[in-house]
Amino acid sequence: MNILVVDQSGQLGGGELSLLDLLEAWGRQARVVLFAHGPFEDVLRERGVHVEVCDAGAVGGLRRHLGLVAALRALPRLVHMVATMRRAAVEAGAVYANSQKAFVIAALAGGAPLVWHLRDILTSEHFGKINRTVAVWLANRRAQCVIVNSRATGDAFVAAGGHPDKVRLVYNGIDPGPFDTLPAAHAATLRAEFGIDAANPLVGLFGRLTPWKGQHILLDALALLPGVHALLVGDALFGESDYAQALRRRAAGPDLAGRVHFLGFRTDVPALMKSVDIVCHTSTDPEPFGRVIIEGMLAQRPVIASAEGGPREILRDGETGLLVPPSDPRRLADAIATLAADPQYRARLAAAAHADARQRFSRASMIAGVQQAIAEACDPASTPPAP
Ligand code: UDP
Repeated sequence: MNILVVDQSGQLGGGELSLLDLLEAWGRQARVVLFAHGPFEDVLRERGVHVEVCDAGAVGGLRRHLGLVAALRALPRLVHMVATMRRAAVEAGAVYANSQKAFVIAALAGGAPLVWHLRDILTSEHFGKINRTVAVWLANRRAQCVIVNSRATGDAFVAAGGHPDKVRLVYNGIDPGPFDTLPAAHAATLRAEFGIDAANPLVGLFGRLTPWKGQHILLDALALLPGVHALLVGDALFGESDYAQALRRRAAGPDLAGRVHFLGFRTDVPALMKSVDIVCHTSTDPEPFGRVIIEGMLAQRPVIASAEGGPREILRDGETGLLVPPSDPRRLADAIATLAADPQYRARLAAAAHADARQRFSRASMIAGVQQAIAEACDPASTPPAP
């Protein structure tokens, strides 16, 4: 099978990290088309993946909240991207689109059976009406199937008009290897490097700096918890530098000074997760999945997450983690305080979560689920007629 993978981003977001696992499984069967340069492209090249960057930067004109005028202005570049995609797709056995804009371009191009891996919740908070309508219309007509990373993602697709019979649920899976092989002493060394005393509770928030990931909610919670420190791991990947600066200003305030450690984008997430006592997830909008939650579970750290979207499908509140209402610093602070005060409870949650993550969110089952969807798409009986 010759799979043409298409992704709009050159950044290393959760969708791209998950794609790396699929590409490793597909080996030489897959080649990748991106619509932007960036660190993701570099990683692909380092791993020997055949990658091509087309019309770099052109998808930037196709904003998530696209108005009619902007849509018309973007049209000539869109036509060019579609033509490029079409040339690439004719040689492929299947096209696998890993992001929304990439899917739209691949669907317009046609040329091979098409699978959309939908990793976003299609709601008005994140996508303009034109974008949602066009993507769902094309999915119903051009995609053989739509892989969704959670029931929440699938429900939003259907609520936006997507055909339920297109939907295939495949949860993200994460390799436990990097979490299992870390020497215990490494975590203590990292903590000492950041100058955090072993007596101070340390929480970690992992994810790009963007308002809906809710780093500000954690800072407000910390203000209620003297002595608790936090690692903020991640960077502003898609131009949210104003938010990143606002976070730094807030963290320099007298009630937080010296307790919030900004680490930027890191490639040693497993080690950093093991260096904290608690992993927090604070998204203010429903998270489509939340790889960082699984990673916290694999690192054997108790996870506190916002009770919406993917996290509600991952964690069982009080058994494998704690769920708190989103955008509620007081409730988050209470959950952190409860866990900080009770090492046995932390250990119990972490042990149950670890077993659950290994069983329900394995990399092997993710790869098998995606491969099955692609095989099904290539079955001529399932091919939809051309639009
Ligand atoms: N991540 C990383 N380095 C960082 C911050 C995050 O490698 O500095 C990784 C993190 O370990 C996770 C992914 O980025 O695997 C984020 O995925 P998630 O599903 O949580 O969020 P998304 O970025 O897809 O919204």
